Amino acid sequence: MPSSLWREVWILAAITLGSLALGALTDRYFIVAAVGFGLYILVQLQSLYALYRWLTRRDQQEIPEAEGLWGDTFNEIRKLVRTAEHRQDELAGQVDRLQSVAAAMPDAVVILSGQNEIEWANTTARKLLGIDYPRDTGMRLLNLIRDPVFSAYLRKRNFIEPITLEAPQVPVPQVSIQIIPYGRSQKLVMARDITQLARLEQMRRTFVANVSHELRTPLTVLGGYVETLSQMPKIAGDEELKKHFATMADQADRMQRLVDDLLTLSKLETTAPQRHDEVIDVAALVSSLKDMAMIVSGKARHRIETEVDDSLFLRGSKDELNSAFSNLVNNAVRYTPASGSITLRWRKTAHGASFSVTDSGEGISAEHLPHLTERFYRVDTARSRASGGTGLGLSIVKHVLARHDAHLEIDSHPGQGSTFACLFPVSRIANQTT
Ligand code: ADP
Repeated sequence: MPSSLWREVWILAAITLGSLALGALTDRYFIVAAVGFGLYILVQLQSLYALYRWLTRRDQQEIPEAEGLWGDTFNEIRKLVRTAEHRQDELAGQVDRLQSVAAAMPDAVVILSGQNEIEWANTTARKLLGIDYPRDTGMRLLNLIRDPVFSAYLRKRNFIEPITLEAPQVPVPQVSIQIIPYGRSQKLVMARDITQLARLEQMRRTFVANVSHELRTPLTVLGGYVETLSQMPKIAGDEELKKHFATMADQADRMQRLVDDLLTLSKLETTAPQRHDEVIDVAALVSSLKDMAMIVSGKARHRIETEVDDSLFLRGSKDELNSAFSNLVNNAVRYTPASGSITLRWRKTAHGASFSVTDSGEGISAEHLPHLTERFYRVDTARSRASGGTGLGLSIVKHVLARHDAHLEIDSHPGQGSTFACLFPVSRIANQTT
């Protein structure tokens, strides 16, 4: 028991004894006791009131001083308040540090409430997004960035991919915006100036396109000469020379295919989708792809089958889709051993339509699957080159599909064959040819 409590017990005992003694002297036990205990209660009430006043006006007043049990109680409260103040200072320091880090960041940072209202923004937000903090606090972000792409991005639940906004929606030429949801419904909006990056990317595309274009003519000339020379009796009659010329012709042919694929890729990257609304008879396309596959297969005699829904049409660019689908069919033939089976399917799915190529070929192990659509990524480089691959086929497929709101799904297991499926959304389905 604390000493202050003993003190109170002694005071109460003294009041009781004092009341008994004075009561015996005056014969007024009740009045004497009432006065004694009343005074005691008054002193307690005074301390209680002091505590109440401190609690209700904490900002202006010091914690009251008192004796005994109340004194101890006030001391404990004082300690609690000091610890709380210390922690508050620490937290405020941390918040200050975080805010100065965020404020000094080269990227724009904006904190949004659940209703997409601006709660905080750093200084870069003014430069990149035109958001002036604290002036714009409480404003809805959609009122400041009026762009349909951004509105759609902010409203959707999936923020995995960033989006790019261009002037005049933002104060700089190009900004990449990424939203990161946190807490219950708050969002962190991060924006980065990608003008320089976009310029470099554009330079890279133009450079690749120009180089490919410039290489085309000399390669055609070289290929032509090699072919003409190899047919001359002097060379055709010399086995050694004939072999060398055949290799030269092969390599010239390979370079030509590479240049063609690079040009196709550059075109896909640099131009807006053309003839977006062409209605494509995919069943007819599949039939011509089957014919092409049989020619490519040649002596390998693959079993090539088709399963098509001929009432299902697709909206898009026929040339581009033909290029993407033939890349998949070509791969199936090239990576499936002789006499293997290949099935081309065109059918409705729960979410739209799917064109798929299934082969009974060598298959691909899981670690390669996420990289297959990267340029020049090959599971087996020698095998790809030997079969005439450029390493760009699946990149072309990916780009073409993206231009048709579609995506590629690959299901493959080593030794069990592969299925490459192009999945189109319902919005891309057309019901009849025009
Ligand atoms: P490539 O010209 O080398 O075939 P692609 O971009 O078309 O380039 O394909 C990338 C890689 O994916 C290929 O090198 C090959 O390793 C693998 N691949 C593509 N299609 C198939 C398939 N049907 N079966 C097995 N592997 C495949």
